Amino acid sequence: MTDLYRLLPEEMEKLVIDMGYPRYRADQILLPLYYKFPKNINDIPQLPKKLREELAEAGYTIGSAKETHRVVSEDGDTTKLLLELDDGSSVETVLMQYEPKKIGGHPRSTICVSTQIGCAMGCVFCATGQMGFETNLKAEHIVSQVIHFAEILEKRGEHVTNLVFMGMGEPMANYDEMIRAVRLLTHDRGFGLGQRHITISTIGITSGIDKLAEEDLQIGLAISLHAPNNELRKKLVPTASPHSVEDIIESGRRYYKKTGRRVTFEYALMKGINDSPEIATELAKLLHGNGSHVNLIPINPTAGDFQRPSEDSVLEFERILNNGGINCTVRVEKGTEISAACGQLRTDIVG
Ligand code: SAH
Ligand code: SF4
Repeated sequence: MTDLYRLLPEEMEKLVIDMGYPRYRADQILLPLYYKFPKNINDIPQLPKKLREELAEAGYTIGSAKETHRVVSEDGDTTKLLLELDDGSSVETVLMQYEPKKIGGHPRSTICVSTQIGCAMGCVFCATGQMGFETNLKAEHIVSQVIHFAEILEKRGEHVTNLVFMGMGEPMANYDEMIRAVRLLTHDRGFGLGQRHITISTIGITSGIDKLAEEDLQIGLAISLHAPNNELRKKLVPTASPHSVEDIIESGRRYYKKTGRRVTFEYALMKGINDSPEIATELAKLLHGNGSHVNLIPINPTAGDFQRPSEDSVLEFERILNNGGINCTVRVEKGTEISAACGQLRTDIVG
């Protein structure tokens, strides 16, 4: 079985040509896939019946995600879905909406996709890390998370504007499928999302960062740093050892040099762990002069006993970074009360 959503436009062309049909038949499959969201091959009536039958006989299907659970935040801005994929596994995907700046404008609609079920990195503050690794998602299953929300949004006259790979899992640990999904979603004959509207977030797997830099893509990179030194980082990211803080920063620099895209360092702030003024000073020194941006994320509650620092200490941390010449923002969290925020995604406890 092959999901047609897996095929890049060039592959779709090859498929129809190999089956003895003209090239344009490929676009007659691609267009509906990304704009009409068919649930099976027969939902593409413009394709000759014979071709539809031959595709089905050759084992081609259209996989779509089934929504099994939906939670919406009180303000309506965040929607978390539990999606059942066509292989029977379940994954969480989140939509975050931000008010339009101009009256009558569309909201910014960011989809936060998962690349794995669970995660092997074991970060102590992350719910996904605590559930362990289950499986890598296929490209078509990453795409189907976006398509599912695209269909929901379309019914409201809205559309997907941004995509962040910040759901469950470590994108660089599922590199090939992740990058295939990026290509399907950004291809102008695929989903057609602008490369600059996509951000990949990684725990800092430097080989993956270097590979991504070579892809000739204009996608944004976020690196989850969380600590300015290796000793502290290892406590928070137990699998960090192969990638030192210095190596990670160096690979971020290479990414910037190669792509021209500024790298964001994510820093989950945990009370009494990595939020002191001394640590802020150390972080400012470490990042000084490489033009990067720091995104401070006051930790979201998970099963672990990490606490969010007080607002004052978050502001103090931010002030020290700013004074040290580091561009810095505090992330406005969305969806914490429905466990849809960063680090709160896990599929073994639905809620
Ligand atoms: N594995 C990738 C992407 C998924 S996690 C990564 O780690 O970057 C996405 C972001 O959520 C990361 O920056 C991660 O550090 C952050 N995060 C994890 N648990 C969190 C929590 N409990 N509160 C706030 N942010 C968290
Ligand atoms: Fe995996 Fe990212 Fe969670 Fe760490 S923070 S366990 S890398 S998903």
